Amino acid sequence: MARRTRSVRTQVVAGFATLIVAFGAVAGWSLYRQQRTVRSLRVANEVYLQLTSMLGEDRGNQSQLATVLDRLVDERDRVGSQAFIAGTRRSRRGRLAHAQSLVQRGLRLALDTDDRRLLEETARSLLLIDRLWSQDEPLFDGLLRTLTGADLARARQEERELLSREDQSKESLSRMIRALQARVKALSDGAERQQAETLRLTVTATAVACLLGVLTTLRARRALDPLARLRDRAQAVARGELGTVQVPAAEDEIGELAVEFERMVGAMGLRDVALREANEKRLQAERLAAVGRMAAHVTHEVRNPLSSMALNAEMLGDELDAMGEPGSESRRLVRSIQREIDRLSRLTEEYLRVARLPTPRLQREDLATLVEETLQFVTQEMSVAGVGLGKVLEEGVPAVRADESQLRQAMLNLLRNAREAMELAGVSAPRVVVRVTARAEAGVPGAAVCVSDSGPGLSDEARAHLFELFFTTKARGSGLGLSLTREIAIAHGGSLHAERAAAADGGGARFVLWLPAAADDGAHEGASDAEGR
Ligand code: ADP
Repeated sequence: MARRTRSVRTQVVAGFATLIVAFGAVAGWSLYRQQRTVRSLRVANEVYLQLTSMLGEDRGNQSQLATVLDRLVDERDRVGSQAFIAGTRRSRRGRLAHAQSLVQRGLRLALDTDDRRLLEETARSLLLIDRLWSQDEPLFDGLLRTLTGADLARARQEERELLSREDQSKESLSRMIRALQARVKALSDGAERQQAETLRLTVTATAVACLLGVLTTLRARRALDPLARLRDRAQAVARGELGTVQVPAAEDEIGELAVEFERMVGAMGLRDVALREANEKRLQAERLAAVGRMAAHVTHEVRNPLSSMALNAEMLGDELDAMGEPGSESRRLVRSIQREIDRLSRLTEEYLRVARLPTPRLQREDLATLVEETLQFVTQEMSVAGVGLGKVLEEGVPAVRADESQLRQAMLNLLRNAREAMELAGVSAPRVVVRVTARAEAGVPGAAVCVSDSGPGLSDEARAHLFELFFTTKARGSGLGLSLTREIAIAHGGSLHAERAAAADGGGARFVLWLPAAADDGAHEGASDAEGR
């Protein structure tokens, strides 16, 4: 299954995003808690403490009022007590209203439900007390009137009734004060707890954030590590080291980059080889051109004298024969001169062929027919040399587009080389097998002529320089034959290569001349557009 690559960018962004979210959450939560605590402390400071002290004062006033009331009836001089009662009656409901406004302020400030509940409860209690005190007003007036009328028994009764009602309000005030004090204590305890909790949370969050940070950093380092290797490789490639190295399977973009880089280096290496080959070919072509010029010159200078020398030598030979000295030393020397002249003429012709190889005129040709005609042409020569000729013409070989005379020349070169190699090695039963077969190269369909012999095969030296111009291992060789043959193959869009022949075909050298198949409509004839020389 194909492995999904993870993006370095996604990994790093995800790592930092997690960090930011974690920090944001902790900071937000702490701020929220802190805000609530500050509000609660403000409520405690600005409302609860003031209320507690105010209601405490009211409760003290109530106690004093109860004491004054309790002895009012039996007092001889009631002026002071009555003045105190009047003062208390005047001020206490105003103070209640002030307390009520403090409670409302608290309700506006409070965020906590406990605070809101306590303040609402306090507001209700204050209302009840206010109602109680407003109902007490006529009772106070009645008691004062009764005291003025000196009805002490009734006054005592009214006084008891008032005392019990005032007791109720005092009790109510005490309850409120206790509740407010308890809340203040709860708030201060809560603030302490919260501070400890915030500290714990901050330490934990910091530890988690550090861990996440370390993990993200390690992950980023691991992801970026291959960059250093990639830089070293780029420097190596810049120095000209074009060999590829194995890289681990890509996990992310950087891994993909390394894989692609190696692929690019591989392609550069191939291109380098192709360039070298092209350069070699260019050099060979240049040398060939030089040979061409030289050959033209040599031909011009040497050909005519050579042919008159050949003619003269022939006449001299004839004369010696007519003088009845066919076996004489002079006749032997003349024959030797004639052989050398022949060889020089052949060499001159060969140079000319290499130098003036024209652009092939391609026609649709049947390779088997061409091979048969060529073999017929060399039968005589081969049988004189004692070489057995074999041919295998396979079925289904596609037609090719070829310049008949050039192709024949190429085959003759291969056959002559085979014969000479076997002759020079002194092979006992020399044999050449020519095989025509269908063969595709680099996915291109085509046909091949394979010339195999039972000679010694190619030496290492020959294998290394086989197609180089002027390379020869023969004392009288020119080193032009294979070079020319390969030129012909390339000019036909084909190729020529050497290999070891199968044992059945002699086990010596085998030369494979491959040509691409003619297109199906192959009626087109005329000058080729194939790569010229
Ligand atoms: P020449 O025949 O003039 O030497 P070629 O270019 O035709 O030039 O051949 C180059 C060399 O290749 C030969 O000298 C020989 O060493 C080697 N060679 C060619 N054909 C064969 C073969 N069939 N068996 C062994 N060696 C061969």
